[in-house]
Amino acid sequence: MTQPARDELAEAFRARYRAQIAAGYSGARHAAIVFAFGLAGIAACLGQVAAWSPAPALAVVAGLLTMNVGHYAVHRWLGHRKTAIGKLFYARHTGDHHAFFTYQAYTIDSARDLRVVLFPVFLLFALELTVVPLGVIGVGRLVGAAAGWAYGAALLIGYVWYEFVHLVDHLPDSVGLTRWPVLAGLRAHHRLHHDRARATRNNLNITLPLTDLALGTLAQRRK
Ligand SMILES: [Zn+2]
Ligand SMILES: [Zn+2]
Repeated sequence: MTQPARDELAEAFRARYRAQIAAGYSGARHAAIVFAFGLAGIAACLGQVAAWSPAPALAVVAGLLTMNVGHYAVHRWLGHRKTAIGKLFYARHTGDHHAFFTYQAYTIDSARDLRVVLFPVFLLFALELTVVPLGVIGVGRLVGAAAGWAYGAALLIGYVWYEFVHLVDHLPDSVGLTRWPVLAGLRAHHRLHHDRARATRNNLNITLPLTDLALGTLAQRRK
C-alpha cells in the first residue's frame, strides 16, 4: 500500500481539527486581543522609563536576547519533546500545530485557522502577570528602575514580535506582508522547520535565528 502524500495527512488532520473549533471562535478577535494587550503592556512599561541612558538601552537588548533563547528552548525542549511539565504544550505544538502545518500545507485557509497559529490569550496574560513583573523588579533592583522597565518592555516586544512573525509565516502567499524582505526570509526559515524530517532538529527560532546559529541548528535549504 502506498503512503498518502504528507499534505493529504495534513488535510485529514485539518478537517478533524476544524470540526472541534468552537462555533463562536473568531480569529480576528483572537489576533486583536493578543496584539492590543501585548502592545498596551509594551507601552505601559516604556512609559515608566524616565530617561534613556545606556542602562535601559542595554536592558532592551538583554530582554530581546532572553526571549530569543527562551522561545528557542521552550520550543525545542518542551514543544518537540514529551515531558511531564510540558505535556499540554507538546500536545498543542507537535500534536496540533505540526500536524496542521507541514512543508507542503503551510498556510491557513481562513481566519478560523488562527486558532492553531496564535498562542491562547491566557499565556500573554500569564506572562504579563508573572514573568514581566519579575523581570522588571529583578533587573530594577540590580541595575535601576529605568532598566527594569525597559527589560520588561523588551520581554513583551519579543513575545509580540514572535506572534506577529509566526502569524505572517502561516499567512497565504497572496498576502503582501509575506513578501516583505525580513518577513519573507523568516517565513522561509520557519517553513523548513515544518518539514517533518527537520521539525525536532532545525530552525527552532521563530524570530531572528540567533540561537539556531549559536547551537548549530540553523538550516537554510531543503535537502
Ligand atoms: Zn508554525
Ligand atoms: Zn515546532
